[in-house]
Amino acid sequence: MPDLRGLGVSPGRTAGPVLLMAAAPALPPPGPPLSVEAGTAAVAAALSAVAAELDRRAGRADGEARDILESQAMMAADPTLLETAEEHVTGGMDAAHALDAAFTGHRVALVAAGGYFAERAADLDDLRNRAVAAVLGLPMPGVPDPGHPFVLVAEDLSPADTAGLSDDVLALVTEKGGPTSHTAILARGKGLPAVVACAGALTLEEGTLVSVDGATGEIRTGLDAPAAEEIRRQAEAERAKLAHSRGPGKTADGHPVKLLLNIGSAADLAPEAEGVGLFRTELLFLDRRTAPGFDEQVAAYAAVFKAVPDAIVRTLDAGTDKPLPFLELPVEPNPALGIRGLRVDRLRPDVLDTQLAAITEAARATGAEPAVMAPMVSTRQEATRFAERARAAGVRRVGVMIEVPAAALLAEAILAEVDFLSIGTNDLGQYTFAADRQHPALADLLDPWQPALLRLVETCAAAGLAAGKPVGVCGEAASDPRLAPVLVGLGVTSLSMSAVCVPAVREALAGHTLEECRAGARTALQRDHATIRP
Ligand code: PEP
Ligand code: MG
Repeated sequence: MPDLRGLGVSPGRTAGPVLLMAAAPALPPPGPPLSVEAGTAAVAAALSAVAAELDRRAGRADGEARDILESQAMMAADPTLLETAEEHVTGGMDAAHALDAAFTGHRVALVAAGGYFAERAADLDDLRNRAVAAVLGLPMPGVPDPGHPFVLVAEDLSPADTAGLSDDVLALVTEKGGPTSHTAILARGKGLPAVVACAGALTLEEGTLVSVDGATGEIRTGLDAPAAEEIRRQAEAERAKLAHSRGPGKTADGHPVKLLLNIGSAADLAPEAEGVGLFRTELLFLDRRTAPGFDEQVAAYAAVFKAVPDAIVRTLDAGTDKPLPFLELPVEPNPALGIRGLRVDRLRPDVLDTQLAAITEAARATGAEPAVMAPMVSTRQEATRFAERARAAGVRRVGVMIEVPAAALLAEAILAEVDFLSIGTNDLGQYTFAADRQHPALADLLDPWQPALLRLVETCAAAGLAAGKPVGVCGEAASDPRLAPVLVGLGVTSLSMSAVCVPAVREALAGHTLEECRAGARTALQRDHATIRP
């Protein structure tokens, strides 16, 4: 098996056996009906195997993951589900179709019940896939849980798959995905080495020992067990070295650069950083069918403000790869260019009003003074209107994200309206290069070293220096230890990233003087192409 190469999107090296994520089972054509006894025995065995497997996993999990697995196990053991499946068998169906029909009936009832119950429909779909796979003798779909460390290889992973990964997953390798896909972001959040857009990954055989380099994107095959062990040992030594890195971010000659955290909820807070530079509030409400209420939002924001009173909160950034079903946005032919981010306010102004009110109430209740910024601002007028709304709601520090080239070009005018800018290089790259941020074949265009992207960063940073206002980077570019000094050389005042990335960025900054950072920035700007990732 030859070595493979993809895009390294979450740094770190490791090695271990490959396990493939099995796809959801397809129903075969209806088979000859078994005897009723054999059919009912098969559905009962499948459901109890699924419940037992989920119980086993719950026993090894803790916290929220344990609760979720336990409640799924209870759903699988629900006697009415078994009775319905048995009725279908008695009516002449084979076991797989009887299970499918039983789950479909329960799903319809759940969705009709609405609210909390409707949100459990996805859990039921997962159970259906497991039960049908069990009865057909196929591998369990979803993330495998073999009880030993492994490298997870999949076509792609949903945010839900990535969020629920067990500690046994050593690294992620996917055939699809891009450098700024939310799967890549979540992998970095968990500190898992990850390689995406890796052609041929699904041809790796189960159990093959591979090494994964999440910085270079290299997957090496043909290892023996001692070599894999040695790679894991070296990676552990590297991690241990970085574990001692502490303190505020600064260059070798003491120029301060705030190192901040990107978080999706209070659970992502960590002591490594100097604050929160991006609180992605929409991650709290992904897949929700009903709008989060005022009180629920206050509680979620207060949990963060209690720990980090000056956190930078981003208002909901819905649309394209982060759907918020409760917004019931129109289906669009070109969603990335449509109603997303702040533009949702054109259709649903109530959503921003409720959110701003919840943020200021959470701030009042905790004595915090958070900053609030809007995603996907394109014009000075949008910045003005957002700043007026936020200030009227009681927010003292108001900023906007720079994710659209039009906004970067007008950074000076926009900074006259707000207190700070935060550059979202993920979307800024996407819109500068007209390249879908999830598109594996366009990864070179999305490389944050692209000089055109760096020039836009420079424009924003220069506007910030002139106005005496902070300009940070909160896109994934900020977490690249090779690029971070370049961004500082361009004049950026803070870098915001997942907690796991902070130590390597801190060490990288400490290794260069400000003048060296500036020289690096000049060189990067003058190139006529992106550097090739090492
Ligand atoms: C960005 O676009 O760089 C950003 C930080 O926002 P998100 O990745 O959540 O779209
Ligand atoms: Mg963005």
